Amino acid sequence: MNGTALEFLKDLLETPGVSGYEQPVQQVVRAYAESFADEVTTDVHGNVVAVGNSDADLRVMFDGHCDQLGLLVSHIDKSGFLFFQTVGGWDPQQLVGQRVTVWTNDGEVPGVVGRKAIHLLSPEERKVVADLKGLWIDIGASDADDAADAVRIGDPVTVQLGFQELRNGIAAAPAMDDRAGVWVVIEALRRAKEKGLSCAVYAASSVQEEIGLRGARTAAFGIDPHVGIAVDVTHATDCPKVDPRQSGDIALGDGPVIARGANINPRVGERLLSLAAAEDIPHQVAAQAGSAGNNVNPLQLSRAGVATGLVQLPNRYMHSPVEAVALADLDHAADLLAAFACDLESDATFVP
Ligand SMILES: [Zn+2]
Repeated sequence: MNGTALEFLKDLLETPGVSGYEQPVQQVVRAYAESFADEVTTDVHGNVVAVGNSDADLRVMFDGHCDQLGLLVSHIDKSGFLFFQTVGGWDPQQLVGQRVTVWTNDGEVPGVVGRKAIHLLSPEERKVVADLKGLWIDIGASDADDAADAVRIGDPVTVQLGFQELRNGIAAAPAMDDRAGVWVVIEALRRAKEKGLSCAVYAASSVQEEIGLRGARTAAFGIDPHVGIAVDVTHATDCPKVDPRQSGDIALGDGPVIARGANINPRVGERLLSLAAAEDIPHQVAAQAGSAGNNVNPLQLSRAGVATGLVQLPNRYMHSPVEAVALADLDHAADLLAAFACDLESDATFVP
């Protein structure tokens, strides 16, 4: 991953975009994509779509979702403590003791997630896992009025953002799910344009995946693609306590994961596999028996159906503040999608 591309990834990860509040991160996507795309548009739902070679008859859509898990301020109590609703599938254990940021119209308000200290927990309380109702955000307010001067009901909250490089090209950050995918689809368009395209490519940074696969639905309807590939994270099984008998042998750094199963068009799936082999792109294979819990699902069911593929990025600690990926997997996924787009003949058919 070169300097500019790495900076783009860091910018994506250091900018907030809680589901429904994606505008800040979408500005980052727009600014980067505008430097090479033919056109960059934002639809009324908030999806940002960067286009290359739009005059071609065959339309290919790449989807990565830009929204991230977060919290919404839902109540301020008399003492000025904030209570919240969760946005997306949080494990409450991951929130205890976190530094957080409330993103207000007037800027950032730092806070911490509080819980009763271990000394004060009864023996019974110690045995049960943390409950969301037992957590609150402390911004240091002196009372309700002081808190209400700083934040409004409905302001979004993230855990403290930041990109951390570990050893061997592994990096961790909140929102790696799915800023890593946004990076891949935008970067794939840039690389495909450089190589030369005969189809039209629409790289979508879609909104609201974490709250019900919503943005890809509206984006796909608007783009009306023939082929659609979703890029999202998937569970790596190369860390303690995760069972490969459940999710397959998936390791960080062994390449993007190409899915096979009912949510995948067989021609698209086979094309991805044979291209990866022909181009020497490291890759892994995973089974997806039913409808997937990510954007390949609404993508496949858009209008009269779209020929879909699913390319996944191995990820440890999904839906936590320390989601870890291998940067090389992102790079290889961008190469794979670029190769896929450049290899498509304009009369390609995907009827199984
Ligand atoms: Zn995701």
